[in-house]
This record gives sequence, structure tokens and C-alpha cells, in this order.
Amino acid sequence: MPAIYRYVMDDGPAVMVRVATPAELPNLTRIARRIAVHGTVQGVGFRPFVYRLAVELGLQGSVRNAGGYVVIEASGTSGALDELAQRIVNDAPPLAHVDSVAISELAIAPAADPGFRVAASDHTDRDAAGELPPDIATCADCLRELFDPADRRYRYPFTNCTNCGPRATIIHELPYDRERTVMRLFPLCELCAAEYGDPTDRRFHAEPVACAACGPQLAWHPSGSVTKVAAGEMALAAAVQAIAVGQIVAIKSLGGYQLVCDATNADAVRLLRERKRRPTKPLAVMVADDIALYEVARPTIAEERLLASEARPIVLVRSAGALPDVVSPGTQRVGLFLPYTPLHHLLLAELARPLIVTSGNRCDEPMVIDNDAALLTLAGIADGFLMSDRDIAVRYDDSVVQVIGNRPRILRRARGYAPSAIALPVPARRPLLGVGAELKHTFTLASEGRAVLGPHLGDLEDVESFDSFERTLTHLARLERITPQIVAHDLHPGYLSTQFARRYPAGDRMPVQHHHAHIAACAAEYGITEPVIGIAYDGLGLGDDGTLWGGEVLIADLTGYRRFARFSRAPLPGGRAAVKRPARMALGYAFGVEGFDDEPGLALNSDLDPFLGRLDPGEVDTIRRLVRARMGSPFASSAGRLFDAVASLLGVRDNASYEGEAAIALENVAADGNFGELAWTLRRVDGLLVYDVRPTLRDVIVAVAEGIDVPVVAARFHQTLVAVTEALCQEARNATGLQTVCLGGGVFQNSRLTLGVIGALAASGFTAYAGEQVPTNDGGISFGQSAIAAARTGRD
Ligand SMILES: [Zn+2]
Ligand SMILES: [Zn+2]
Repeated sequence: MPAIYRYVMDDGPAVMVRVATPAELPNLTRIARRIAVHGTVQGVGFRPFVYRLAVELGLQGSVRNAGGYVVIEASGTSGALDELAQRIVNDAPPLAHVDSVAISELAIAPAADPGFRVAASDHTDRDAAGELPPDIATCADCLRELFDPADRRYRYPFTNCTNCGPRATIIHELPYDRERTVMRLFPLCELCAAEYGDPTDRRFHAEPVACAACGPQLAWHPSGSVTKVAAGEMALAAAVQAIAVGQIVAIKSLGGYQLVCDATNADAVRLLRERKRRPTKPLAVMVADDIALYEVARPTIAEERLLASEARPIVLVRSAGALPDVVSPGTQRVGLFLPYTPLHHLLLAELARPLIVTSGNRCDEPMVIDNDAALLTLAGIADGFLMSDRDIAVRYDDSVVQVIGNRPRILRRARGYAPSAIALPVPARRPLLGVGAELKHTFTLASEGRAVLGPHLGDLEDVESFDSFERTLTHLARLERITPQIVAHDLHPGYLSTQFARRYPAGDRMPVQHHHAHIAACAAEYGITEPVIGIAYDGLGLGDDGTLWGGEVLIADLTGYRRFARFSRAPLPGGRAAVKRPARMALGYAFGVEGFDDEPGLALNSDLDPFLGRLDPGEVDTIRRLVRARMGSPFASSAGRLFDAVASLLGVRDNASYEGEAAIALENVAADGNFGELAWTLRRVDGLLVYDVRPTLRDVIVAVAEGIDVPVVAARFHQTLVAVTEALCQEARNATGLQTVCLGGGVFQNSRLTLGVIGALAASGFTAYAGEQVPTNDGGISFGQSAIAAARTGRD
């Protein structure tokens, strides 16, 4: 039935048009728009989502990946196009995150290609910033298929779909399309190609899609064999058999090789520790599901939710005591995670017991990602290798998260989280790079309002980790299309990261003080640009006065800081070696802690004798001479080293195989309950407030001499630091009027201290923040450096 239609011009009056025939109708009422969607929109099922939406709304046109974003060109009624734009925001797939939707009008294209299609990606737009999606744990649908004998992907260890599977670890280039991933080596079989092309299928445009007929395969190499001796199910069976009898197997996982053994077999775990030269650092345990979880741990609801999240991080959970001590000695917590690849699910289903799943590396080296390197590097550690022919484009270690005060706080940010962008409160006007510090190393690339905190790379102390840093940086900078013009770095000239920054061909270099970076990392994560009271409790970082800092109160914003207070200084006998020997640190405080008002250090008496008597007299003498002569014993005002000293004085830990081990043990031994504080004093010295630690240490020494319960003294020590911190904040508020407190530094990985400080500050009317997305330890330094560099150069 013919009718008269009005055709509404954009900026003109409505005009009447002639009577249209039904065939002409659609074209007359149609307008066309280009809709560019920025955010996390690639690798998260976004194009299939747009496709289904467009078909439902009767639109014509196409959707495609361009650079790192998605472009839709569609024609239809203005109402349908409005609804499309609205629903792109409101109904986006669960893993997508829409930052912006830019709409422009197009001249109506002739309807040569009716219908809607997913078009080939556009690579011409080289400048567009890409949003690189993190890897996602196997989804419930894929898991069901994995164990369904009727499904064609039954027991296929590389199954995935648009809702799950590898992302960041397989991408060579953006836009995220199969031919720019490691999957380009696996042409799709007919069935997979049909799923990939079917808009109604869960695998529509799932780039890493594969099946047993066309995709990657497992291979089993016994130690010492460069050729595989079994493939597919036989390879899996060989690995299962080896683990079952107490051997150690290297498996190729998502972001690197992992070393796997039976967590219930103490001998196997000890063997792994011995071969990996990792004497005491806790090992992560993977359990099959939440039932297996409860057999070994007592998670809170928040921890359980985090364990099951699609990032599948390692979560530090209270242990149920069911696993051998050798898994996580000296701590009541155990690092647990759930399977995140089909291969993990298969292994755990076969073995039906908790497994140690730890990074496949030697000692502190980076995790191995290549098959050849694995055979070589892990030869002395693994009894066999469960390999595959799916390459890993870039290394991503497992992430580690701890829940403190019901908030998940990331301690190690890698697989599942990196490289999602974090917003900068002051946009970077020029692209920049924060190179980080040394331990728990990361780097950050930033451009405009986005900061990309790269994955955790381990301690930047040797050639291997430095090489890994350079390769990961080159990879991410290319993908993100960021060419840094400013490089922010630590003040410490000895860090490999600082030396790298000095050589880096950028226009400007910007030194950033270590603890300022800690405070800025916390403030920037919460979007705070105003001045704050910054509490930085840390191991060691170089101060602007050339001494080592680590127990600091800074009045800071993103552009600068003023040092307001510090802890007492004490010598590090023999320098950095003292970090691995808390007993030496205790001797440093005992013989050489800073004195005030002509009062010597600790007035020593016989109370210290029980402690000294426990140590080798030769060592005690040597340290005494070193400290008295001030030889090779730099002074540090460190909170972390104070924890070490107290742990040793209390007989909790005299040695540490990794930084923070003694402090973790001290937190763990502390009794529940409030036992009051030890003595403490604040003094004013040269315009700075100083926490004089001598009364606290004297109380510790006397308590030990009198035989008081160590757990009670440990609890009182924590309570003392809470009280000291609150008092320092009160003084800072009196001096500045500031109410906002930002906490930073590795010492705040201590949940007892962090909870205590946040609670005490809240009770006194402060608002206190501690990092969640950005690690409070040195893994967050590069983000802090970037926030500072952006703020210093961002406003003129
Ligand atoms: Zn899936
Ligand atoms: Zn296939």
C-alpha cells in the first residue's frame, strides 16, 4: 500500500517526498552512520555482539576491527541507529569495556550489499591506540564440552571460545585477528571454519578457535629427549603418570612453562625446591574446584569470588593445615588458584589431588616460554616435558592477589590483569615510559589518559631478566603504538632500570624518588591529584639526600613532595647482604642504631645476651667491628629492615631467602587480639619528625630476656607501628590540614599492619587508601613514576 513519507534532513526542514513503492521504502527512510567504539572491545566477542544486535535492529552495513578499536558502518532508521549506539554501551559483552562511542553521519551508501556482515580488519589506521585484552580462564560452556564424550572437543586441551581463552599471550600485532596471532600456523578445519563464520555460534570470530583436527597438539618429552615420544592423549597420560609417582613435570601453560608436582607428596615438593633452588618461598597450589579448595584452605567469600574470577589469580588464603609444611613454610597462608586452561582441568581431573603449579624457571630467572629453551633450561629440574606446538608470543606469569579489608589487592600483576589500561588522573601530553625499580620489576607505558602497566617481570638483577624486560617492552610498545618521549626512572644509579633509562633514546629523562613513586602510585590509582599525607613503608629506596630511605612520611602530590617524618636510621652491616640475613640487621640496630641528644644507640646490657648467645660469636664480632668502624654499612631509615630486626631478635627468622620473608613470618606468628603497644617516641630532628625506635627495641629485647610469649610480642610490635603511624598522621594533619592518607611500599603487603593502620586512621577522621589494581610493592613503582611524569609535564 503506497504512502507518503517524510524524509527529515539533518539541518534543514522536513520535506515531503513523493509516494514511494514498497521496494523503495527502506532506502528513503534510511540514514547511515559511522560508529567508532573505543575501550576493551577486541578479543571479547564484541564484533559478534554488534552483528547480532544489528541484525535484530534490521540494520545494513558492517562491523570491523580497526587498530585497537571497533568501527561500525551501518544504515537504517535513525531510531534503530540510536538504539544500536545505546545498546553498545548498555548491553556490551561481560568482558568488554566501552570507553567511548564516537558517532558521525555518513552519506547513504547504495544498498549494494544488503544485510550486515563482519568485515575484514582495517590496518590502515596505524596511530590508533589498541586495547590489548588479557587472557581469560576457560568458561563454563567450554568446560562442559571438555568433559562431554559426545562433544567433538571432548578432552581437547586447547579449546576456547569468544568468552574465554588466550589473548595477550598469543597476539603478535593488533588488530586482534587470527593471522596476527600465534594461531596463524593452524588453518581452520571445515567444522571450525563453519563455527568461526556462524554468527549464531559461540565461536563466531573467536580468533584462537581450534579442535583436535586442526589445532595445537600436546607432546611428551622425557627429560633428556629432544624428540617427542608421545602425542595427544598418550602425552597427557605420560605426564599424569609421572606426577602420580612423585616426579616433576614441566608443562607449557598459557603465559609460560610451569613446573608441576603432587602437592600432597612432601618428598616431591622437597625435590622441586632443591632442584629449583627455592628453599622456603611459598609455592602456589592449584586445586580442581571449590570442593577441593575447602579441603586445603579456609577462604572468605571475597577470596572465593576472586579465585573463581576470570583472571584466576593466585590468592593468598588461610591454610586448613592439610598440605605438607614444605609447601608454604612459616606462613598460615597458602597461595591457591583454580585451573584456567583446559590442560589444567584435564590434569587435575586425572590426578584428583592438589598440585604444585609454579613458574617454570631456574631460581630467580624469568619463566621459560620456548620449547627449546625449556628442554635446555629446565633439564636439571623437570623429569619430563608436556609441550605443545602453540607458541607463546610474550611471557605472562601468574598474578598474585591478597584480600585485605574485603578488597582484593594485587601483589603481582600479570596474567589475567595485564595489560589492561589504568586511567591516569593527569593525562600524559607526551607518550612516556616509567622503567620501574629493581625487585618485582614492571614497566609502564602511558599516552594521554591511559597507563599500561606491563606484566610482572621478576627481579631485574641479571642478564636473563633484563633481556625479558627489553623484549616485553618492545612488544607492548609496538602493540600499544607508544613511542616514549619521556622516560621516568628511579634515583638509584645502580638499578639496571636506571641504566636502561639513561641509554634510552628519548627526549627527556626524569628521575623520580622511590617513595614518592610509591605514594603517587596509590594516589593516581584513586584519581587523587591534591596533596596527601603519604606513608611509605618499604625495604630500601634511595632518598634525595643520598641515604637509604624506607620508613617515610611525605607530604606529596603528583608533582612533588616534602619529607615530613622518617624512622630511626640503622646501619646495614655489609650493605645489601643484610637483606638476606635479618640476624645481621638485628646486630646492626643493636650496635649502631641512631642515637639522639648525645644518648648513644641502644644502651646494651645483659638483656641482649640470650640473643647474642644464639649467634656465632665470630659473626657477632665481625658485625660489631664493621658497625663501629662504619665500614660498608650504609644507614637506612627503613621500616622493612626494622621488621627484619625484630623477627630475628624474637628468634622467628635469622635468615631470609627472599626479601620480606622474616616480616611475613613475624606477621604469621603474631597472636590474635590486642595486647597493647611497646614503648615508642617521636622526636624532632633537623626539622623532621623521627620515630625513635630505641624504646621499642629495648622492650622487645627485655621481653625476650624475660621469656614472654613471642606471639604476644609480635602482636604488640604490630600494634606499636599502627600507633606510631597514626601519631605521625596526626602531626602531619596538624602541620598541613590534610586529611587524606595514601599508603605505599612493600611493608603494606602485611595485612595485619594494613588493616590496623586503615582502621586507626578511619577512627581518627582520616581517609586512607592502599593500592588494589596497582601493587603496593615495587611492582607499582613504574605506574607511580608515570603518574608523576605525566603530572609534571601535563599542565603548563
Ligand atoms: Zn569458552
Ligand atoms: Zn578444527
